Amino acid sequence: MIKENLEAVEKRVQDACKRAGRSRDEVTLIAVSKTKPVSLIREAMACGQVDFGENKVQELCKKQEEIREPLRWHLIGHLQRNKVKYVVDKACLIHSVDSERLAQEIQKEAAKRDLVCPVLVEVNVGGEETKSGVSPQEALPLVRSIAALPNVKVKGLMTVAPPVEKPEDARIYFKELRELADTIRKEAIPGVEMKELSMGMTGDFEAAIEEGATMVRVGTAIFGARDYGTTK
Ligand SMILES: *Cc1c(COP(=O)(O)O)cnc(C)c1O
Repeated sequence: MIKENLEAVEKRVQDACKRAGRSRDEVTLIAVSKTKPVSLIREAMACGQVDFGENKVQELCKKQEEIREPLRWHLIGHLQRNKVKYVVDKACLIHSVDSERLAQEIQKEAAKRDLVCPVLVEVNVGGEETKSGVSPQEALPLVRSIAALPNVKVKGLMTVAPPVEKPEDARIYFKELRELADTIRKEAIPGVEMKELSMGMTGDFEAAIEEGATMVRVGTAIFGARDYGTTK
């Protein structure tokens, strides 16, 4: 089942790239495996999938330890400062940096291990109150402050679009994130890259690709619906 799902998602990714006149290799498909068992991750691995997304530190670490193959684990969920030490050397990219204090904690733990931790700044483009992420206005100042941290490297921006009725309605948020990245890129802040745009999930990844996503985070369309009741 995972194989068929992955093939169907891959086809949709390719079609969206084609529509946008983009090359398929500009877009990384991250299979979001949160709440899903290692057996399903292995099925996806057997199809050649190497990028996986988890939203909880503990779950990411546990699965990585169990699988032990050189996959790319993306931390896509909110990160608490006291969990940084567990994940800083395990995630290939932290998508959810949304405060200076969090970035400073990543700096501290990355420096201890003598590594440079790649991160994205999470932006709350929809302005929903309950959501994590900085406001679009706060993004540039945060990027500037992270640029001063030698062991943290900004690679781009991430957003979770607010729930909308039609996928097409999410497009304005993706466009806004792309334009924000363009604005920040123009500042040419030393050490800062604005290459990656992590945006688009099962319901809206095609519009995201058409608006410039370089990473799409797809869970449900690959692994099926999540049952939070029994996996916690
Ligand atoms: C769960 C999650 C996804 C994947 O969501 P689907 O709708 O299942 O594709 C993507 N991004 C983040 C931040 C998530 O927490």
